Amino acid sequence: MFDKLETLDDLLTVQLKDLYSAEKQLIKALPLMADKAHDERLQAGFRKHLRETEEQLRRLEQIGEFLNLSLGGHTCKAMAGLIAEGQETMSERATAEVMDAALIAAAQRIEHYEISGYGTATHFASRLGHVEVADMLRQSLAEEQLTDTKLNNLAKEHLNQKAL
Ligand code: FE
Ligand code: FE
Ligand code: FE
Repeated sequence: MFDKLETLDDLLTVQLKDLYSAEKQLIKALPLMADKAHDERLQAGFRKHLRETEEQLRRLEQIGEFLNLSLGGHTCKAMAGLIAEGQETMSERATAEVMDAALIAAAQRIEHYEISGYGTATHFASRLGHVEVADMLRQSLAEEQLTDTKLNNLAKEHLNQKAL
């Protein structure tokens, strides 16, 4: 991507490209996860987060335009791996409750990865004085955090209970 990373700006670019690839991959994976979910709230949650993810991708595109960066041409290997692991789980035979619990576990790993990426990118952008960019990244960060919280609540209140 770079011959040599020299500035915090370069590092921000690396983070943004990685997030961009991660979101693009997730847009393909989330519909499959929604289809596999049995619980209506979980299914609706995946669909809602798909729409948010599409918006997050648009936000990154705007950030790219704003900073004059092209964010394509990089693959986030970690997201590819997380999705591959999720797909392994989805191909297993399982009862409805256990499948839902497994989907939540896979989704939370994904959200935690995104939270870490957006957290770092937000920090870099605000250190660099890119106030608007930092605000946009913070907005996506908040969505990922809320999604994680909702998944956590679903797991705790309902699904894990049933899986017992
Ligand atoms: Fe996202
Ligand atoms: Fe990555
Ligand atoms: Fe997400």
